[in-house]
Amino acid sequence: MKVVLQNLTKKFPSRNKKSDDEVIAVNNFNFEIPDGKLIGLLGPSGCGKSTALNLISGLISPTSGRILFGDDDVTNLPPENRGVGLVFQSYALYPHLTVKQNIMFPLQNLKGSERPSPEEMERRVLEAAKLVQIENLMERKPGEMSGGQQQRVAIARAVVKMPRVLLLDEPLSNLDARLRLQTREEIRRIQRDTGITTVFVTHDQEEAMSISDMIVVMKDGVVQQIGKPQDVYDSPVNLFVSKFLGTPPINVFDGKVSGGRVFIGNEAVLDAPRVKDGSVWVGIRPEGFILDENGPFTCALTGVEVMGRDISVVCAHEKNAGAGAIRAIISAENRPADGAKTVRFSLKPYKVFLFNHDTEERIEVK
Ligand code: ADP
Ligand code: MG
Repeated sequence: MKVVLQNLTKKFPSRNKKSDDEVIAVNNFNFEIPDGKLIGLLGPSGCGKSTALNLISGLISPTSGRILFGDDDVTNLPPENRGVGLVFQSYALYPHLTVKQNIMFPLQNLKGSERPSPEEMERRVLEAAKLVQIENLMERKPGEMSGGQQQRVAIARAVVKMPRVLLLDEPLSNLDARLRLQTREEIRRIQRDTGITTVFVTHDQEEAMSISDMIVVMKDGVVQQIGKPQDVYDSPVNLFVSKFLGTPPINVFDGKVSGGRVFIGNEAVLDAPRVKDGSVWVGIRPEGFILDENGPFTCALTGVEVMGRDISVVCAHEKNAGAGAIRAIISAENRPADGAKTVRFSLKPYKVFLFNHDTEERIEVK
């Protein structure tokens, strides 16, 4: 099911009683979610992810704009008539019901001709339970299961009605690191198996990048960029998006362009023949550095962190505009000389981005 968001806007009255400024939680969101895809909705806390998801589910109604499922305008439909499955961070299972009863609950709530026969209900509950691999836990109560198992029950409950759209709001936040990895792969598999159009909300960029067909990066209610994870990573539209994706994060320097060359301090680190002179933010991905004793870019070496296959060369530079130290990821086979105080790099041009110093928009170098 294709989902179309048209000029979707949600304003809330201010929570601060003294101010009457309203909060624009979602600001003019436009996106056509392709049928059968998994979309990662990504951004820092408070950027409007949950609001956007709740608008799609119908739990809240928009201030303006429209939502279509396929050709159906669902903007004014209540959630129960939209055919959505919802999964939240807190599993919100019924504690006194067994796993089987929990999964069956949405089917028992169906009315009239929509309500399946008891045999059909049994069949569909078993099918949903198999999908999330909990079919051998059907008689347990939620309190007798791990967090990961409970979240699987919540997912089974959300898909048992075969929703037109599956909506997940930070569904893995309550799980420990290992379960989080495992469960996210599970969600990807379930989504592929069922082909249900899915929106997955998370503040964790790695989580979104790893399982999404497309990601939507939001900031302050405004969509910054939509694209395939790799494309957004390789070609961020602005400084915010470049900083939000990638671990370790991109390194940002206060630089300038002069005479067709990019300067960081007094070193010309890269050519940019078509960029006009002026101050720029220079973003360099950690994997964009090459250790090179004749390289144009010199940093003070402050440490080396072992990562196994790779090492992280930790550096300082007076033009570093980022919050943390500079990190260059290079193969463990080429470590800097023992006792070295400085280290020199050449740069991979496609791993270096220039941003306008004022607007922070990306500047095309080619
Ligand atoms: P996220 O899920 O990305 O953390 P939310 O969508 O929950 O963000 O919130 C977006 C913004 O809208 C925040 O500034 C939040 O404080 C505000 N907001 C959300 N719900 C309400 C509400 N019911 N009343 C007032 N403000 C709200
Ligand atoms: Mg939220």
